[in-house]
Amino acid sequence: MGILEVSNVNKRFGGLQALGDVNLSVQDQSVHAIIGPNGAGKSTLLNCLVGKLIPDTGSVMFDGQSVLGRKPYEINQMGISRVFQTPEIFGDLTVLENMMIPIFAKRDGAFRMHAIESSNNESEVIDQAMEMLESLNMADARNDHAAAMSRGNKRRLEIGMCLAQNPRLLLLDEPTAGMARADTNNTIDLLKQIKDERDITIAIIEHDMHVVFSLAERITVLAQGTPLVEDTPDNIKGHPKVREAYLGE
Ligand code: ADP
Ligand code: MG
Repeated sequence: MGILEVSNVNKRFGGLQALGDVNLSVQDQSVHAIIGPNGAGKSTLLNCLVGKLIPDTGSVMFDGQSVLGRKPYEINQMGISRVFQTPEIFGDLTVLENMMIPIFAKRDGAFRMHAIESSNNESEVIDQAMEMLESLNMADARNDHAAAMSRGNKRRLEIGMCLAQNPRLLLLDEPTAGMARADTNNTIDLLKQIKDERDITIAIIEHDMHVVFSLAERITVLAQGTPLVEDTPDNIKGHPKVREAYLGE
């Protein structure tokens, strides 16, 4: 049994079958990549895991409990945290203030802006936020406006904000999309560091094969809403069906 077990999940949008009988098992503390051409259903699948979409049929179990019918924040509290395709940080706030948000949210069960505004007395939250920034090598940038950071650093901050919630499963949807090579490599290094330092499972949707093959232990290939093959990176590289469906050969 994996920490995440997706069984026979189907999802239609009108006449379009976005997901058809998807089965996926993600092992605890592994890095599992989901690849496939545009429109294959990768983001739809991820949305079904975090409660943003509800599958028409099938089941999604996390750590032995069904996530179906739960609201996104409840699934988040179960230990699933998601990094979006575009960085979701607050540009007007400083790096430190951004990092305080998930820590407040975890402590209070909800985020309130005034908590940040009256944060002078919140030394405990600041300490925890600084600790996280230090582990991300971002402590020196704590007073910078988040909007002024490079794309790579925004992504780094955002991933850190997810980690501050102490998730057991981190989901990433194309975390290096639109990044320059140097930022992509920084993101790979960060994810490797996270994997080494934490008891965490990572499921990553990714287009960039350099990222996939640098990180993944297992790879599932989705094509037209259905898993085509699931295997190790070495086996995926040479798989004729994958070359045909994914690399267009
Ligand atoms: P991927 O992330 O693999 O590129 P998506 O999961 O975003 O693919 O999309 C799978 C298919 O479902 C696509 O054909 C897309 O146009 C369609 N789709 C995705 N979301 C919706 C939606 N909310 N309404 C209608 N069609 C959608
Ligand atoms: Mg997508």
